[in-house]
Amino acid sequence: MAGRVEGKVAFVTGGASGLGEAMVRLLVAEGARVVIADLSQERGEAIAAEIGEGGKKAKFVHLDVVDEAAWDRAMDETVAWAGKLNVLVNNAGIALPGDMEMEFSLWRKMLAVNLDGTFLGTRAAIRTITRCGEVGSIINISSTQGMTAEPTTAAYSASKGGVRNLTKAAAVHCATKKLPIRVNSVYPGMCVTPLVKSYLDEHPDQLAPQIAAHPIGHLGEPDDIAYGVLYLASDESKFMLGSELVIDGGYLI
Ligand code: NAD
Repeated sequence: MAGRVEGKVAFVTGGASGLGEAMVRLLVAEGARVVIADLSQERGEAIAAEIGEGGKKAKFVHLDVVDEAAWDRAMDETVAWAGKLNVLVNNAGIALPGDMEMEFSLWRKMLAVNLDGTFLGTRAAIRTITRCGEVGSIINISSTQGMTAEPTTAAYSASKGGVRNLTKAAAVHCATKKLPIRVNSVYPGMCVTPLVKSYLDEHPDQLAPQIAAHPIGHLGEPDDIAYGVLYLASDESKFMLGSELVIDGGYLI
């Protein structure tokens, strides 16, 4: 039986860990060829070797999402490997806690990775998908904190709120230019990944309140988000444009 994204080529930033790793594994299992783009070379290469069937189904590309020239190289490498691009998941992100009196350097770092990185990726993918004459889907990973804020999420919420409206701007751009590229965003509640584990290890008092903030009664798993991304990557979501897919155990109710 054909997979849900059979024949598509996907590119997942931050694909070497956490939510991104789950997306990579699911997209490959459902028939896509996937580029794992990350700073973490060792982990990314290990995942590609494990699931890539000798380089046919997965490939690691080193990428810092804030490096404009590196995006051009990564897109060229993808097309050289797979002949085309259909799906970009702008998933790489950082979540350093800081309230409104944080250092400016912390603010700039968060905005650079989470928002500048998503802009550079979205622009690069629109150009590459168009150059290849393909149909595409761009999926931007925001957060529940992109729709609201907690006391220590000032920069994170600003960056993820930026991702929300950047997604709408990109969606309307593609529609206006009659480009067959859909752009949508995803809003995960707290899921247990290395990013969240290190936060909860440092703030063990936060576990119970975080669970309590998710009415479903527990935190999410990476696959909960990966299935939403699979839907947006597939043609099943062909009427979704500029939308907000919330997967949060009821956090935002
Ligand atoms: P994670 O730390 O487990 O993985 C993030 C990956 O991104 C890592 O492999 C890291 O090396 C990579 N990365 C970081 N900076 C990068 C850069 N500049 N260039 C390229 N790669 C880079 O994190 P996660 O929990 O899987 O989060 C993934 C995304 O989901 C992030 O955008 C995060 O904000 C968002 N998110 C996560 C949660 C959650 O609960 N885990 C909730 C809401 C949103």
